[in-house]
Amino acid sequence: MTLHREHTKRIFVGRVPVGGGAPVTIQSMTNTPTVNVGSTLAQLRSLEQAGCDIVRVSIPDNDSLAAFRKIKSQVEIPLIADIHFEYKLAIGAIDAGADAIRINPGNIGGKEKVRQVAKTASAAGIPIRVGVNLGSVKKRLLDAFSEDRVGALVENAREYVEMLEDMGVVSIKVSLKSSDVLETVDAYRRFSKICNWPLHLGVTEAGTLLPGVIRSSVGVGALLLEGIGDTIRISLAADPVQEVLSGRVLLESVGLRDEGVRVIACPTCARSNADVAAIAQEVEDALKEVKEHLIVAIMGCAVNGPGEARIADLGVACDKGGALLFAHGKPMRRIGADEIIATLVNEIKKEIGE
Ligand code: SF4
Repeated sequence: MTLHREHTKRIFVGRVPVGGGAPVTIQSMTNTPTVNVGSTLAQLRSLEQAGCDIVRVSIPDNDSLAAFRKIKSQVEIPLIADIHFEYKLAIGAIDAGADAIRINPGNIGGKEKVRQVAKTASAAGIPIRVGVNLGSVKKRLLDAFSEDRVGALVENAREYVEMLEDMGVVSIKVSLKSSDVLETVDAYRRFSKICNWPLHLGVTEAGTLLPGVIRSSVGVGALLLEGIGDTIRISLAADPVQEVLSGRVLLESVGLRDEGVRVIACPTCARSNADVAAIAQEVEDALKEVKEHLIVAIMGCAVNGPGEARIADLGVACDKGGALLFAHGKPMRRIGADEIIATLVNEIKKEIGE
C-alpha cells in the first residue's frame, strides 16, 4: 500500500530535503549541555549512527553559542539551533553555520527582533522552523477562540507564518504541539488545510519510553497515515537514541521507510518451545544499526511458526531441542537451541553482504 502524501513545498535543512515529496525524515535533539562539546559531539555521533537525519541543539546562552560553533565544524549531520527569548543568539547561531533555526516568534522579543532574525536567516539561505506549543499561544487568540484552544493554536501558527513571509522568509517549516495527542492531531489536520509549508510532527512532552512511544506513535502515526507530515520527532524523556530507533520503527510501520531489520516475534503461549522474547531481543540488539530492510520471524512452535517464518526473509520455528531455519520461504536446516541467535545474526549479515 502506498500512502497518499499531502503536497508541501520543498525546503532543505543542510543537505537534507524536507517536504515536497521527500522521504519523511527523523529528528532528535541533544540533551547534553551544549557547552560540553565532547559529550554533545559523542551524542550527535550516536544519533547519526542510529539513523537520525537532522538534530536540534539548544543554545540557551553565549557560552552555548561558542560551543555550538565548535560542534558545528566537526559534524556532518544537519543541525538546527533551538533559540528562545534572545534574538542575538539566533543571529549568532546562523553566523556559526546552523542549518536551520527554531524559534517561537512570540518569545523572541517583539516584531523588530523577529525581522532581524528573519533577514539574517534569509541572507544565509536557511529555513526557520516556527514552533508553537499550546502552552505559548497568545492570550488574545485564546480569548477570541474561547473553547477552541486548537483553533487558537492553528491561528497563532498561521499569523507567525504570514509575518515571516511578509518579512521575506522563503524557507519555513512549522510545528504545532500539545502534550495531548488528540489536540495535536486536530491541530496538524487543520493547519495542513491552510498552509503548504512542510510540517514537523511531534507530540510534545510525550513522556518516558513506553508511554512516550505509544502517545507519539498514535499521534504522529495517525497523521502520517493521512499523508500529513514531512519530518518527525518522537519526543521522549529517555536517551535520544531511543527517539531515533522508535522513529525508524514508526516510519517502517506506516510504509514510509524501507530500512532496518523488522523482527516479527510471536507472543508465545503454552505451545512455545523457546524463550522467544529473549531471542528476539538479542537479535534486535545485534542488528539495530543495520540499514537494509529485512524481515526476520522468530516463532515459538511449529503451529503458526513455519507459516510466518516462510513469508519472512529469514525465520525460525522453534521445536523441541532446536528450530527449523527458513530463508526466503524455504526450509533450510535444523539448528540446535543454542545456535538460534548466532545463526540468525550470521545469516542476516550474509544477506546484507557483511
Ligand atoms: S507461534 Fe506457536 S508458540 Fe507462538 S504464539 Fe503461536 S502457537 Fe503459541
